[in-house]
Amino acid sequence: MNDLIEEINDLKKRRDAAILAHYYQDGEIQDLADITGDSLKLAREATKVTHSTIVFCGVHFMAETAKILNPDKRVLLPDLQAGCSLAESCPADKLARYQEMLRQNGRRFQTVTYVNSAAAVKALSDWVVTSGNAEAIVRRVPSDCEILFVPDRHLGQYLQEVTGRKMILWDGSCIVHEIFSVGDLLAMKRKLPGSIALAHPECPANIREHSDFIGGTEAMLKHLATYAEPRDFLVATEANMMWQMQSKFPQHRYHPVPGIACACNKCPHMARNTLEKLRDCLALETPEIVWQPTFDRAREVLQRSLLN
Ligand code: SF4
Repeated sequence: MNDLIEEINDLKKRRDAAILAHYYQDGEIQDLADITGDSLKLAREATKVTHSTIVFCGVHFMAETAKILNPDKRVLLPDLQAGCSLAESCPADKLARYQEMLRQNGRRFQTVTYVNSAAAVKALSDWVVTSGNAEAIVRRVPSDCEILFVPDRHLGQYLQEVTGRKMILWDGSCIVHEIFSVGDLLAMKRKLPGSIALAHPECPANIREHSDFIGGTEAMLKHLATYAEPRDFLVATEANMMWQMQSKFPQHRYHPVPGIACACNKCPHMARNTLEKLRDCLALETPEIVWQPTFDRAREVLQRSLLN
């Protein structure tokens, strides 16, 4: 293990590479990274990287976003198959047909797209949002336009609740956040009176309504910073997030909310990236995210939405 870490650090220098890792990666990968963060932080930080290569430890749409915002950099992803159930739920051709149907019916709308989507879908959008900036962007959509929100119906429902804007919701969801067990969450609250439940807005309404704080991963960390005394936190997001919480705020106790079918709530797509694949991709400088024709239009939307 130590040899592998040494090898990665050595290759990182030789390849002039920066490693960016999402909070849902294994702790050992986050430990090696130059920058860790949620989607919004990583997209913004990627534009400040001075190295010639970015190795993105996350899923495909995140590495794609880093490439789109940094066309001159080589962007590597340890496993090109690291996908996302949300991104897969909204193919670009299906979205284009749906938008056309709405236009033919005389509907005036703007498409607000969660960053968990393919570049071709972003290229069909007016705005791209992350859980960190979605509320602010939704409030910027002119009130005389309807909002078509894709692809996460739970995040869309949450945004409807907090902004009061009615939306047309795409029927997508995250396989990790959708399956938290409300029965187990309530049992944990009874067992740990005074505990604080944190839920990601990708969770369904039944989990959100029994949570004390709802926010993306970066917002969760900011919220934890407001508690000085040790507390019990019930965490309804991807389980690796607790590694980051434990590192930054070790005084607290963190308890994963179990899923209906699985007790660990790890994202199988994120888990495709391993230290061995990270080493190999640095050594072989592949797999690489290659520029696609849809990236030009997606770049305009991403820059307007995430960087301004
Ligand atoms: S946790 Fe859910 S939204 Fe995030 S990458 Fe995995 S499947 Fe996609």
